[in-house]
Amino acid sequence: MPTDHGNLGTLRHSFSEVHNRHTDAGWAREVTVRNFPISKNMAGVNMRLPTGAVRELHWHVPAEWAFVTYGSGRITAVDSGAQKFIADVKEGDLWFFPGGVPHSIQGLGPDGCEFILVFNDGNFSEDSTFLITDWFNHTPKEVLAENFGVPASTFDRTDRKDLWIFNAPPPGSLEDDLEQSKQPFVPNPYAFPLAAQKPNFESAGGSVRIADSSNFPATTMAAALVEVAPGGMRELHWHPLSDEWQYYISGTARMGAFHGEGRNNTVLFHPSDVGYVPQSIGHYVQNVGKDTLRFLEVFTSPQYADVSLASWMNNVPHELVAAHLNIDVSTLRKMAQAKTPVVPV
Ligand code: MN
Ligand code: MN
Repeated sequence: MPTDHGNLGTLRHSFSEVHNRHTDAGWAREVTVRNFPISKNMAGVNMRLPTGAVRELHWHVPAEWAFVTYGSGRITAVDSGAQKFIADVKEGDLWFFPGGVPHSIQGLGPDGCEFILVFNDGNFSEDSTFLITDWFNHTPKEVLAENFGVPASTFDRTDRKDLWIFNAPPPGSLEDDLEQSKQPFVPNPYAFPLAAQKPNFESAGGSVRIADSSNFPATTMAAALVEVAPGGMRELHWHPLSDEWQYYISGTARMGAFHGEGRNNTVLFHPSDVGYVPQSIGHYVQNVGKDTLRFLEVFTSPQYADVSLASWMNNVPHELVAAHLNIDVSTLRKMAQAKTPVVPV
């Protein structure tokens, strides 16, 4: 764009351009600060688990935010109060596991699931999590025997390698799984039906659905699912509390990002692309394709927050703004408006 100036470092990467780690059961690919240097505070993973395939029981230091893009799966976790969580999630649902909370994911029929994971640490790697098999394999059998009150030979046939993603029989009924332990259920569930909730904002141009600590108390990472109609636009705005990690689900987008000091970059996005906008950098996202644009905005702050340029101009004296922009006050009164996350087409 002729208004572009300076290089902000690339604001775009794509899962379609990175190494895909396969096992005979499923696959995962990741975009981290190592291959996407601007992505300092969040890392992303795209994972596929066919029916029965399991992402091994594991935990990690950062928190995990996730969105199901296809199919369905069963997720499990337990918190530090020994309270259980087991749920089935489907396309459009999200989950959130706080840092250190151990969990698993398994594909359900008929075709398993695919999902996006976002971690609140750009350095995180899906290849370096704490795996239950890894711990068993590196703990003396006598210690395991003492811990569980069973003979050491119990562990003779435990797999000697990490499983990570492996095939297992598909799970039985959710009710049976929930009844196995008599422990209480976690007070704040780790799953949330993001796509099924009523939009927080809706206009002729599109909609925004938000899941943050106000309606999804388990989370410390806010997020939004944004839909923009062809020709519509996510308005000029910025986020005062956090960087923004984006995932483009469908459609074609053009984002302009303003970094101050005269620097501005414009970037095109297609499905499977990841975008990144540092905290308080001004930006807009246009739907420049023929189909509905759908993308995710994910943040490291518990609360969702954005500042609207139009709303700013509406809430300070119009004469003051007019003096800056050399626009008639009468024209400005028509331009400045209430916050409109997706402007009408
Ligand atoms: Mn995990
Ligand atoms: Mn934004």
